[in-house]
Amino acid sequence: MNTRPVKQLKPFHMYIGSPIWTLKQICPCCNQGSSLILSTCDNCKKLMAICDEMGTVFIDARDISMDKISQADNEVCPFCQEKSTIRPAKDIEIIAIGLTPQDYE
Ligand SMILES: [Zn+2]
Ligand SMILES: [Zn+2]
Repeated sequence: MNTRPVKQLKPFHMYIGSPIWTLKQICPCCNQGSSLILSTCDNCKKLMAICDEMGTVFIDARDISMDKISQADNEVCPFCQEKSTIRPAKDIEIIAIGLTPQDYE
């Protein structure tokens, strides 16, 4: 278990008006449901899930695991390292990686 403190990414309340999709499964870092926000990097278009409680970045939204969390500096994309490019994922992007509407809400 990684106990390194994690800072929040850019707060998602800045995106009022766009739908925010969360995975239905329980988050392994805080044991809460509906806290895994599906997010996309606007720069490299990769999809990830970010815990709304702890700010943990899960780099594979199809396989949420504490073994697959970002070790990158906070506020950067774990894939391309660009800053401030992460936004809520669109449903077509979520479906494109193989998730189905049963997986998120
Ligand atoms: Zn969590
Ligand atoms: Zn990126």
